[in-house]
Amino acid sequence: MNQHSGTTAVPRPAVEVDEESAPFFDAAARGILMVQRCDDCRAWLAPVARLCTECLSESVSWTAASGRGSVHTFGIMHQIYHPGFESEIPYNIAVVELEEGPRLQTNIVGCANSDITVGMKVSVTFDKISDTVSIPKFAPA
Ligand SMILES: [Zn+2]
Repeated sequence: MNQHSGTTAVPRPAVEVDEESAPFFDAAARGILMVQRCDDCRAWLAPVARLCTECLSESVSWTAASGRGSVHTFGIMHQIYHPGFESEIPYNIAVVELEEGPRLQTNIVGCANSDITVGMKVSVTFDKISDTVSIPKFAPA
């Protein structure tokens, strides 16, 4: 595939939507955060789980999460690991623990990096990066 965007900016690595992650991205495009849940023991699982980490059941279903959580840990990135993100330095990478339990690696938006604290209450917001892909990020609740 030959793509020319007409800009000299280095494109960011594309988000790959595959059969397994499609329900996650379909819901995200509609503003809904989906995680997975075990049909047998009802454990909440971080996407994309092929089997339950609690009981090893292979019967897991996509389920809407509340979108609320708290910052479990975070870091501020000052290094450019990919030139597509150069304009965003410094940026944060955070792990948010959802109310339901699963932890998601994400970014905190809507506040200064210096205002991010562990335990801070956050809620999901979606960063639409294309017609088909919206990335869940979290803002102070
Ligand atoms: Zn289970």
